[in-house]
Amino acid sequence: ANKKPRKPDWLRVKLPVGQAYANVRKLVDEYKLHTICESGNCPNMGECWGAGTATFMILGNVCTRSCSFCAVATGRPNEYDTDEPRRVAEAVKLMGVKHAVITSVNRDELKDRGAEIWYQTVKAVKELSPNTTIETLIPDVKGNWDALERMISAGQEVVSHNMETVAPLYRKVRPQARYERSLEQIQRTKDYGKRTKTGIMLGLGETKEDVYKAMDDLVAHGLDVLTLGQYLQPTKMHLEVAEFIHPDLFAHYKEVGLAKGLPYVESGPLVRSSYHAEKHV
Ligand code: SF4
Ligand code: SF4
Repeated sequence: ANKKPRKPDWLRVKLPVGQAYANVRKLVDEYKLHTICESGNCPNMGECWGAGTATFMILGNVCTRSCSFCAVATGRPNEYDTDEPRRVAEAVKLMGVKHAVITSVNRDELKDRGAEIWYQTVKAVKELSPNTTIETLIPDVKGNWDALERMISAGQEVVSHNMETVAPLYRKVRPQARYERSLEQIQRTKDYGKRTKTGIMLGLGETKEDVYKAMDDLVAHGLDVLTLGQYLQPTKMHLEVAEFIHPDLFAHYKEVGLAKGLPYVESGPLVRSSYHAEKHV
C-alpha cells in the first residue's frame, strides 16, 4: 500500500490567539453567521482572524453538493434567512475591513440558486460600508445565467468562482459540477464587466500538464486572478492528499501562469482564494 505523505514544515501555521481573533469570534457568534474559515477547517484562521478578517458563508451551512474535498455538511438545506443580509452587513461594518469576502453554499434546490439573498447581502454591505470593497466567491449556478446576473449585479468589485481542480479530476473531486460550465460562468462574469477570479487546489493527483491546460483555458475565458494552493484533507472522511507540492513548484506555476497571460497569479502552499484577498481587487 502507498504510504501517506507526511505534512511538510512549510504547512505549519500560527495558532489562533489575540484580541482581534477574539473580536471576530464574538461577532460571528453574536450575529449568528457562518464562516468558511471554520466550516472548511482553514489552516489560516490564526492569521486571518488574528488580523480581524473572516470570510462569511451565507445561505446556511448545509450544502446541496458533496464535493469530496469539502468539509461543509451536505444535505437538504432548510435555511432561507432573509435577515441574513442585514447581519452580514453589520458584522462587516463592525469588523471595519477594507475588503470583505463573502461566499455561500450551493443551493441547487432554489430556483434562483440563492441569487436574491446574494444580491441583498452585497447591497446591504455596500450601504453600511460604502468604502469597503467586496469580493463574492459564488457557487456554480448550474447554467442559470439569469441567477448569475442577479448574483453579480449588486456592486461587488470582484467575482470569484473556484474551478477547484483540473478537468480530469472533476468527477472525483467535484462530481456535481462540470469543468466547461464553470469556465463559461467565468467568461459570462467577465463579459458582464466584473473582475474575475478563481482558485485551484493542488496536490490532488494532477499532472503539470493538467495545470498548464487549466491555465490556458482560464486565459481563454477572461480570468483576471488565479490562486493556487495546497489541498489539505479536512477530515479522514475526505479525499486524501496525493502529494504535498513543494514551494518551488508553486513558484514555477506562478511564472508559467503569468507567461501564459494571466494578469495576476497568487501561488503557494497556504494560498486560499480568500487569503490576502485585498490584494486582488
Ligand atoms: Fe478564512 Fe480565507 Fe483566511 Fe482561510 S484564508 S481563514 S477561509 S479568510
Ligand atoms: Fe463545499 Fe462548495 Fe462543494 Fe458545497 S459546493 S460541498 S460548499 S465546495
